[in-house]
Amino acid sequence: MEIVHTLRDLRLRLAGEGLVGLVPTMGSLHDGHLALVKEASDHASCVVTSIFVNRLQFGPGEDFDRYPRDLEADTKRLASAGCQVVFAPTESEMYPIPQRYHVEPPPLQNDLEGAVRPGHFRGVCTVVLKLFHMVQPQVAIFGKKDYQQWTLLKEMVESLALPIRMIPGETIRAEDGLALSSRNAYLSSDERAEAPQLYLTLKRISSAIHAGNVSDHKLIIEQEAQALGQRGWHVDYLTLRSQHALSEPQAAERELVILAAARLGSTRLLDNLECFRSAVP
Ligand code: AMP
Repeated sequence: MEIVHTLRDLRLRLAGEGLVGLVPTMGSLHDGHLALVKEASDHASCVVTSIFVNRLQFGPGEDFDRYPRDLEADTKRLASAGCQVVFAPTESEMYPIPQRYHVEPPPLQNDLEGAVRPGHFRGVCTVVLKLFHMVQPQVAIFGKKDYQQWTLLKEMVESLALPIRMIPGETIRAEDGLALSSRNAYLSSDERAEAPQLYLTLKRISSAIHAGNVSDHKLIIEQEAQALGQRGWHVDYLTLRSQHALSEPQAAERELVILAAARLGSTRLLDNLECFRSAVP
């Protein structure tokens, strides 16, 4: 495995490579990231993992400065996961001139995560498009853990006719159900013990919808949000959407996803669960 820090070295390393697969990350890698790398190696002969904490997608007062960074530990983990190239650009390599051109995503950018983090998806889509141009992969893998991000990026690729096959990766969880996230490192031990409640909440809502015993899903979701509130969570959103474009679900729609973001202390956790309505009320 080779570690490159500049675009020049990246291009030299990738010259003549056949099928390149890209896994973009912000580092502080866990088993969720490594599962994406393994998935990528099923679809590509050369897997590139990028590690870059992208200032553009953080708002003022967010955790850009304290975001965990450990390139040495990351590269060790990647070497044993089947990655061929680590692309870890510096900020000046990624943004040698002020980034004044941006990708402007569709209105979904202002919903859910975007309602709480204005400009976040503009920053994400801009850096991902730039990484696509730098790495020129044929295949790219993104986690469904960030479902809204996946939805927006998939549409970006289609809409801009980028010659890249987009592959989703399933969410990898700890044994108690907590979705793995670099930000879990911020949790105190009490908060860590409480954190799986978010996934348990999603599972309860999903079972109720799947069983078809809710005529109005809004009520059960409201009750579950209140229950989280009583346990000390601050819920940013807990909502049911259509898997397609994350629009408000129509009554006949069966392929749904429950999305949640909630804060425990100062840590913001994100999770979602795809859910299939077997009986339409
Ligand atoms: P990040 O480093 O948090 O920007 O994430 C990089 C990629 O890893 C994104 O495509 C995420 O959706 C994905 N990812 C993060 N956590 C998980 C997880 N627990 N399971 C699967 N993929 C994940």
